[in-house]
Amino acid sequence: MPRMPRERFLRLGALGLAGLFLPRLVVRADDGTEYVVRSGDTLSVIARRHGVSVAELREANGLRGDRILVGQRLNIPASGVAYINHTVQRGETLSVIARRYGVTVAEVRAANGISSDLIRPGQELRIPQKTVSPAARQFSRGVVEATRRITVDKSRWQTIVGHHSGIDRGNAASYDRFHRRERRMENGLAYHFVIGNGRDSGDGEIEIGDRWLRQIQGGHVRTHAVNMTSIGICVVGNFETRRPSVRQMAAFRELVDYLRNEVLAGKPVNFAVHREIDRNHTVCPGRFFPTAAMHRRYG
Ligand SMILES: [Zn+2]
Repeated sequence: MPRMPRERFLRLGALGLAGLFLPRLVVRADDGTEYVVRSGDTLSVIARRHGVSVAELREANGLRGDRILVGQRLNIPASGVAYINHTVQRGETLSVIARRYGVTVAEVRAANGISSDLIRPGQELRIPQKTVSPAARQFSRGVVEATRRITVDKSRWQTIVGHHSGIDRGNAASYDRFHRRERRMENGLAYHFVIGNGRDSGDGEIEIGDRWLRQIQGGHVRTHAVNMTSIGICVVGNFETRRPSVRQMAAFRELVDYLRNEVLAGKPVNFAVHREIDRNHTVCPGRFFPTAAMHRRYG
């Protein structure tokens, strides 16, 4: 029998997230509820019905596989949305603010119960930020763990740049060798992250480059100023001839969401693909990379 969900508010404090912008981060969460398995139910059906992931369901119930029994009681884990408070500055528009936080104008309107685009300086807006529970992370858990152990240089990072590797083989280690030997880069691997295609690393596996752990500039574009201030993510493959895999793009989105919404929350972060920066010099990340879809998501 499901218990009635009870709302609770968790005050997490500033969490060191760009304290300038974020006086506090408030997470509203529904208490977990209980669900009794009925005939015909599967974990994925139950998960979808409750708006959680199968991984979250498994974790909340200590399950390894997909086996559930009729009559079994399952805890449905809480899900939540975090809100950041933003004070409107002179000259800011709703779309500028929405882009800064990686959300849509419609989401900002809905969170604040406003229907027009009219805002005024000094007005307080609630900006919704989707929280991701650890269990819901499919691809980025290693990145989250590694990033917790380092101090992120938030003042440095302004742009996230998507690349393809241009070849169907390779992983972080082989590109590192190539960049050291052929390109004479003393810091090796030019990217901060490499997302595998299932050949020389896992399909959707995110490998963390040394440059991310050391918080140093990339070497992934020609323009020095952009290398100094941008995070380079390389997706393994040649996307002039084929599409990235579903898992690669899921990993890419999960990684960019994490970087923008959590690591660099509250500061403006641009999204670009390589050819938009080094115009006329490269087709990277290839015509089959979903560049337009990524711009719809990230501005
Ligand atoms: Zn590139």
